[in-house]
Amino acid sequence: MIDSSLKNKIEFILVEPSHPGNIGASARAIKNMGFKNLSLVQPKDFPNDDAYYRAKGAKDILDDAKIYGELSNALEDSTLIFGTSARARTIPWPTKNSSELTSVLKSGLQSNNAKISFVFGREISGLSNEELQMCDYHIKIPTDEEFSSINLSHAVQIISYVIKMELQNKEYVSEFKSESTTFQDNEYLIDHFDKVMKTIDFYDQENPKQVKTRIRRLVKRLQPDKLETGILRGFLAKIEQVLNKKN
Ligand code: SAH
Repeated sequence: MIDSSLKNKIEFILVEPSHPGNIGASARAIKNMGFKNLSLVQPKDFPNDDAYYRAKGAKDILDDAKIYGELSNALEDSTLIFGTSARARTIPWPTKNSSELTSVLKSGLQSNNAKISFVFGREISGLSNEELQMCDYHIKIPTDEEFSSINLSHAVQIISYVIKMELQNKEYVSEFKSESTTFQDNEYLIDHFDKVMKTIDFYDQENPKQVKTRIRRLVKRLQPDKLETGILRGFLAKIEQVLNKKN
């Protein structure tokens, strides 16, 4: 038996799913594994009879699904974010196989405010680079290398099964309680860096975007806690103050 408070800290987000049937099959998949939180970002066609038909006994998951216009809104309170993808991208991100989630999940579930999000992409094109860069880790389900793209709801089934196994086989009792930073806290920090770097002309004007992406990757990789984020924000604010006095 897994403590339901642990399971409630896990959510599944589908970004712009095109086929209502896949939404229903995903709802069924997560309920089969004992989870209940499903969010949809701009679903093409939902609510829809086909989704309800494919959900079978998981209609409650569809009734309770949260709908968002943007992935960033769906992620606002998330404290740990996994983006799933079959393909490696240009700026490599910390990546895990679906069988290597133990230590990250364990530390992610320690905090009082833990909300762990698993993000899934569009049937045709997956997640964009920008969406993947909102995540702390990328997960690849190991498949045959020649044929790696799994049906959306099947990917949801595999990931939800893996997390269920993780939660039931490992000791997830908290040793120390802390407060994690949320996606939104990290976005404020990244934007603050960006703003100050622009003010002091730190950016290479030819290619400014890569610097911000690398700062983003640094923040995601280090996962500073609330106190550390506060120090960095305070430091940046002080630089702005000093610059304002000079001008
Ligand atoms: N053609 C798309 C794949 C879309 S499959 C592409 O090349 O990116 C729909 C979604 O299922 C993906 O966005 C991802 O969330 C998930 N998925 C499919 N295969 C996967 C795999 N091997 N590992 C992890 N996630 C996968």
